Amino acid sequence: MKKFLFLAVALMGMAAVSAQPTIERPKLVVGIVIDQMRWDYLYTYNNMWRPDGGIRRLLDGGYSCGNTMIDYLPTFTACGHSCVYTGTTPAFNGIVGNTMMVHGKPIASVQDSTVTGVGTTTDKGKASPRNMLVTTIGDQLKLGTDMQARVVGISLKDRAAILPAGHGANGAFWYDEKVPGFITSTYYMSKLPQWVERFNKDNKKTMKNYDLWNNRNGVTMTFEMAAAAIDGEQLGQDDVPDLLAVSISTTDYVGHAWSTRSLQLDSIYDQLDIDLAKFFKVLDQKVGKGNYLLFLTADHGGTHNYKFMTEHHMPSETIGNGSLEKMVNGKIQEKFGVEKAIKGHMAYNWFLDNEALAAAGVDREAVKREIISLLERDDRIAWVIDFEHPYGRSIPREVVDRAVKGYYPARCGELYLIPNIGVYSGSHDGKGSTHGTWNQSDTHIPLVFYGWHVPHGERFERNGMTDIAATIAAMLHIQAPDACIGQPIPFK
Ligand SMILES: [Zn+2]
Repeated sequence: MKKFLFLAVALMGMAAVSAQPTIERPKLVVGIVIDQMRWDYLYTYNNMWRPDGGIRRLLDGGYSCGNTMIDYLPTFTACGHSCVYTGTTPAFNGIVGNTMMVHGKPIASVQDSTVTGVGTTTDKGKASPRNMLVTTIGDQLKLGTDMQARVVGISLKDRAAILPAGHGANGAFWYDEKVPGFITSTYYMSKLPQWVERFNKDNKKTMKNYDLWNNRNGVTMTFEMAAAAIDGEQLGQDDVPDLLAVSISTTDYVGHAWSTRSLQLDSIYDQLDIDLAKFFKVLDQKVGKGNYLLFLTADHGGTHNYKFMTEHHMPSETIGNGSLEKMVNGKIQEKFGVEKAIKGHMAYNWFLDNEALAAAGVDREAVKREIISLLERDDRIAWVIDFEHPYGRSIPREVVDRAVKGYYPARCGELYLIPNIGVYSGSHDGKGSTHGTWNQSDTHIPLVFYGWHVPHGERFERNGMTDIAATIAAMLHIQAPDACIGQPIPFK
């Protein structure tokens, strides 16, 4: 009798196991980052968006988080792409700039001398995600599905393909105009997949005839490459969710060259509207309506051209770091006898020559105080943050918190310049836009979710860029990236 009872209980147990509901998940997660897209472009271009275009479909069917901000400094491309997919800031993920100090040398964010190019012989292939210190949402998707999920990154820019795809990606593909064609590195594979070879061959003519970085064809080619990846890598074709990270770079190049309200940029966004609509149709057809979860966002915004702003009596100015550095070093030498107390700068990060200061036997803190005081006397600079004592002075939390969230000691300078609103580091050729600071132009980004389990709606409660990965993780019931500090966004 006991035996029968045991058997019955065992069978009941098995029945219970087989009756477990499956975890509902989309077949494919699609992340689209539009490089340098300001939040207000969704509305600035309202009259340009086609009734059957991609942006109307997104806004009319998706859920817009209309008050999404970047919560760290500096607002640059590598930092933005890393933050979207790691759900955390440069202080945690280590991607503190497009160029950063690694082991005492300035290198590009994805530069990796231990790998070589695949599909190219140029240095553009020497790239990997190794400088990023934490997992991405794609990595977590892999870990959460016994590595069965497939994860792919596509962009013209290396960093915009590599950082979003993460460490465990099946592949990341970026553009080398010298080939011309999409390439990858030995970090991922030893040979280009057949579908990439074919794509490059089929599009050779367009790639040879157009500068994809600065032409509408750059937008089209990136979306077409992403569509080819769906077939080539069999994304969204089974019940295990995959991830496709796409980033459009041409918007950023043309913004830098021609600024926010130029005809040139209008033309690029017009193309984006057309190509996004086509890409939606590809997803509908290959993955199925309602089977994919898509989000569209940006890595940072962009300011209006400074001459344009000046003409209209709005605050705007630039800082030539070189002359400022020369002035500071001259004054410090006069007072403390140290020849070059500032050894260099990278955008808003300023580096002390600690060896020179130690050799001269000067009071390092006194030198720092003097440098800060000299810089803050400049009309274009609001505050200089001393990363070793960031909260020691009366600097608003909105600013100092953002700077600290971008501070990874081994890769950053000791001092961080916060210019006044409208003031930017570097010189301009007079035509372009730029970004990098904490103001609304640079930090207010679009964020629209669309598709699987996303209702139509809009919210204006404050969200951070770090909330994107947290939201995707929550919706998929997978662990958020390891250093994620965001919160899942409720759709209501
Ligand atoms: Zn960018």
